[in-house]
This record gives sequence, structure tokens and C-alpha cells, in this order.
Amino acid sequence: MATMFAFAESRGGALRKVALEAVSAARQAADATGGGEVHAMVVGAPGIGSTAPALGQAGADVVMVVEHAELARYSPEVCSATAAARLQAGGYRGAFFAASAEGRDLAPRVAAALGLSMAADLTEFAFEGEVLVGQHPTHIGKIITTVRLAGTPAIVTLRPGAVLVAEAGRTPVVEPVAPALDPGAARVVVTALGGKGDAQLDLADAPVVVSGGRGLREAANFALVEALAAAFGNAAVGATRAVTDDGWRDPATQIGQTGRIVSPDLYVAVGISGAIQHLAGMRTSKTIVAINKDKDAPIFKLADYGIVGDLFEVMPVLTEAVRKAKAGG
Ligand SMILES: Cc1cc2nc3c(=O)[nH]c(=O)nc-3n(C[C@H](O)[C@H](O)[C@H](O)COP(=O)(O)OP(=O)(O)OC[C@H]3O[C@@H](n4cnc5c(N)ncnc54)[C@H](O)[C@@H]3O)c2cc1C
Repeated sequence: MATMFAFAESRGGALRKVALEAVSAARQAADATGGGEVHAMVVGAPGIGSTAPALGQAGADVVMVVEHAELARYSPEVCSATAAARLQAGGYRGAFFAASAEGRDLAPRVAAALGLSMAADLTEFAFEGEVLVGQHPTHIGKIITTVRLAGTPAIVTLRPGAVLVAEAGRTPVVEPVAPALDPGAARVVVTALGGKGDAQLDLADAPVVVSGGRGLREAANFALVEALAAAFGNAAVGATRAVTDDGWRDPATQIGQTGRIVSPDLYVAVGISGAIQHLAGMRTSKTIVAINKDKDAPIFKLADYGIVGDLFEVMPVLTEAVRKAKAGG
């Protein structure tokens, strides 16, 4: 029976989906070792403690709440010092972070502070005794590397979307925790978040991602992609590098080897050929739908559902069908 730690990311006072995934992963790990406790840490401005019930729902037994007026945005130093101090106090077999921009920054800082190794961007994991064995896609997703992580706690980041959010239904004990470092004295201060801002659905959080490629012919035609995303209601819009390089879309929305990595429940590829570098960013999506007029386009090799056709004809019909289905008609 082992106790697990999970870092629950938040933004703008709300939990990110990767927070629930980290807690769910910790729950899985604790259950697999005989039913130990899961301790989740959430850091934010006063009021962030109200997220505790949602963390309990995902499997947390204890929610450590680190609240401070100057922690409304991620603080690398405060978060790493506070997480490391807690982990140092001992008793944790594993520590789960998201392989998000924040988690990729935070987990190595924590590992370094504790003098431990870590494993990044895992898609699967299991404990074999004290050793964590994890799978991590490399070489743009063509090879799955198995890593064995000795050292306690095993510190890992998990690829967004790799873990199903649990419905554990626990009522957690809320434990206020003071920041291990005065937030006012931090040398690194995040003053603004780029990209789509604090409020909108991030590509890593969206259950549905609709992406467009060069097949759309010009930037204005992304309206078709936006319309389908809007019809789903819970979708974010991505793009290929071909179109971000051409300035049609914000580079922050590029999916692929040199862009974002996403694993949504549903990925819709519109006018995208399926170059290996693009696949590296979305191949772990649960269900992939591709729309392409070329029946031999490589994307169809990966797609679960393919529509061979002209996207300018297909997209309006598909969007209308989704709209109707969502409206229950
Ligand atoms: C080092 C390196 C890193 C890279 N990193 C990335 C990355 O991170 N992400 C990424 O996406 N790319 C990346 N690339 C680029 C990648 O190799 C491809 O060039 C790019 O993904 C192609 O984008 P695309 O599918 O939009 O365009 P294309 O390959 O031009 O495909 C357009 C597709 O649209 C279809 N089409 C055209 N008209 C229609 C229509 N009317 N209806 C339906 N279908 C239509 C065509 O049949 C075609 O399959 C990288 C390349 C290199 C060398």
C-alpha cells in the first residue's frame, strides 16, 4: 500500500483537465499497490481550495491547498519548492505531474531539488515493486521506449489525454499548506499568459480537436473548421505547420513534432495529408476522423473514420449534422 502525490494544475482559478488526469493516475497507482492514499496539491489565489471536491471526485483523499494572492499564476519557484518540501517529508512512492507546459517546467525542478531522476511524457505506467515502469513515445511516435525509474518517489509527467479521468467519488480532507517560499520574494514572476489567454479552452484540455491543413486553400476558409468546432461546443482548433508557417494560424495552435501534442477523445483532420511530423502530435488521440479528397492520403492509414471527399462540400454537411445531433434533433 503506497501513498501517491499528484500536482493539480489550475488556470484562472479553475482546474485544468490535466489536473484531474494527474490525480486519476495517482489513484490508479495507489489502488494497484493495495489502496494507498492520494494526496493532491493545488496552488492558486485565495479561493482555489474550492476545487477540492472535484479533486476528490478524481480520487484524492487529501487536498493540500496552497493559497496566496500572488499565486494567481504559476510560480516556478514557489510551486517547485512547496511540492519538493512535501515530497521530501517522505512517504510517497510516486509523484504525478502533467506533461503540459507548466508540468514540463515544474517536474524537473522538483526532481532536481530532491536529487532524483524523472521520466517525462509517459503514456502508460505501472509499479513493479519500488520501480516505476513507464512507456514514452519517441522518434516522433514511431518507437515506444520503456523506462524503468528507480528512486523514491518516482517523479513522472503524463502526456495530456493519456489517462482517463476517474470517478472515484471521494470526499477529501482539505489541508491548508503554506508556500515553502515567500511568493513576494520569487525571482521569476509570470506576468501574462500568451496564446489564447486564460479563459478559453486549451488544446490540451479540449475533448475534441478540429484541425485544418493546406487543403483549406486559404486562411479565411478556416471558418469551416471554426464552425465545426463551435458545433461540437467543447472543441479547440488546431493546425498543421504548413498553415502556421504561412501565417494563416497562430503558431501556438500547431500540432505535431515541433508543435503541441494532443490526445483528445476525438481528433478531426480537415485537409491534412498526414505527414509523419503532424502525426507525432495527434496519433494518440482516441478516435481520429479524416476528411481528404485524396483516398491515398497517409492520414487515412491512422484514421478510425475517413471521409474521402471535397472538404468544401463535406464540412457544411458534417457541421449541420453535428449541430442537429447536439441539439438532440
Ligand atoms: C523538421 C520538421 C518538423 C515539422 N513539424 C511539423 C509539425 O509539428 N506539425 C505539422 O503539421 N507539420 C510539421 N512539419 C511539416 C510536415 O512535414 C508537412 O509538411 C505538413 O504537416 C503538411 O501540412 P498539410 O497536411 O496541411 O499540407 P499538405 O501536406 O499539403 O496536405 C494537404 C492535404 O489536403 C488535401 N486536400 C486538398 N484540397 C482538398 C479539398 N478540397 N478537400 C479535401 N482535402 C483536400 C490534399 O489531398 C492533401 O492531402 C515538419 C516538417 C519538418 C521537416
